[in-house]
Amino acid sequence: MNNKNNSYLEIKRKKRVLTIFLLLSLILVLVFSCFAGCKSNSLNKNSKNLTNYSLSLSFDDNTKTLQGTQTVNYINSTQVVLKEVWFHLYPNAFSETAKIKPVSNLYKDKAYPNGEDFGRITINKVAVENKEKEIIIKEPDNEVLVVKLNEDLYPDDRVNINIEYNVLLPNCLHRFGYGDNTYNFGNFYPIACVYENGSFKTDAYGSNGDPFYSEMANYDVNITYDKDFTLASTGEQKNTINLENKKQTNIKASVVRDFAFVLSKKFNVISKKAGNTTVSYYYYEDKNAEKSLQCAVDSINTFNSLFGNYPYSTYSVAKTNFIHGGMEYPNLVFISDSVTNIEDYLNVIVHETAHQWWYNMVGSNACEYAWLDEGLTEYSTLMFYKKNPSYNINVKESLNSSLSSYLLFSEICTSVYGSFDSTMTKNVNTFKGDMEYVYVTYVKGVLFFDNLNEMVGDKKFEKSLKYYFEENRYKNATPANMISAFEKICKRNLENFFDSWINGKVVLQNYK
Ligand SMILES: [Zn+2]
Repeated sequence: MNNKNNSYLEIKRKKRVLTIFLLLSLILVLVFSCFAGCKSNSLNKNSKNLTNYSLSLSFDDNTKTLQGTQTVNYINSTQVVLKEVWFHLYPNAFSETAKIKPVSNLYKDKAYPNGEDFGRITINKVAVENKEKEIIIKEPDNEVLVVKLNEDLYPDDRVNINIEYNVLLPNCLHRFGYGDNTYNFGNFYPIACVYENGSFKTDAYGSNGDPFYSEMANYDVNITYDKDFTLASTGEQKNTINLENKKQTNIKASVVRDFAFVLSKKFNVISKKAGNTTVSYYYYEDKNAEKSLQCAVDSINTFNSLFGNYPYSTYSVAKTNFIHGGMEYPNLVFISDSVTNIEDYLNVIVHETAHQWWYNMVGSNACEYAWLDEGLTEYSTLMFYKKNPSYNINVKESLNSSLSSYLLFSEICTSVYGSFDSTMTKNVNTFKGDMEYVYVTYVKGVLFFDNLNEMVGDKKFEKSLKYYFEENRYKNATPANMISAFEKICKRNLENFFDSWINGKVVLQNYK
């Protein structure tokens, strides 16, 4: 063997190693690009047959008003010919004349720390395919805008509707309103009502639950606001340009059920990745900020593996002035700054994150079947704790306390009113106040899902939820969809079991 020969062999060996390395790299690149591509393709593919909203918004901090111009490229996704399209005008629920109000007497003082204040949306102009139309707003609460079309709209056909408006934000610590720290823009623009069983659904914005119901849509939004604000929003903030004294951000959101944003001069922002999603935490005064962010990351990771993937590139958790614990919007959740105990604060983050699955990706009519998302979301929160023992939550104990507090509440109601209606499937505005809504929807909801889990076992329970998610992703589901998912996976008839729980016949005193 000589040196020359050795060098030749060495070069040959190196070449072979290099070729193998290049091939492996290529395979890895292909696998990863397919993975990323497949993910965005799931949104791309599903964004095709949806309504497109283009919003141009300008916020004036001095007058607390938002000026909006909106083009809705509306698709008729029903099976019938439409002559009109109806839109919710949710901000009018905050007006002085509203009969059904989003704030109940119980929470009035907390919601309006500076005295009752009012907000509204004023429609200035409506046009269909550039033809100006009469502005028709339905009484009594002026919460619905009726847009008469120029011609019949056939199934799968599209029409362009332009709406110009002004929104006045109330001094109210609510989904729509402002406090000392944040300006909350939830349910603030005209959003198309869902057409179902021969009519547009127009449930009023009452104080029980989250009485919203909408279809998936795509959004292209420009927001102009003061330079010293930080913006948290649904979707991906594509770019921000500086204007004189102001800045303007362009946001794109595909396949989302709604669009919301929060502005604050006090926001700090920290971010971390959960898979392909950038999770951001917008906060003020939180000495456990890293823990809060980590909790959001853990929640996304846990629910990704429990139910199916969150396909969006962003998820934002925003601390806000808000009377309740938290509120879910697509890709964005509000966490109330009034929740001061860290365990409770993290619990709200887990709960609101679970809503990305049970509200945004799998929607439902929260006015009729609030338990279908709230009960399941509460139970998903317990599933999170089972999978993440480091959070030190005793799930068994939590279930026991749910049961005893529910029984106590039902006893009190029976002695005060003579009876207690524990029907879960009923309209949110028919519950006797906030407490009954919470006990029947959340607490009984958790007990129901726990009973179902015990009956079919963890494996089948998780598999059924995965299947329910897969089958109903990007759509609106009903209790029937959930029953059929569990029946298919568990291979048994569950109609009577569901019926006894959701229609109020189950006797919980015998439970456990
Ligand atoms: Zn919830």
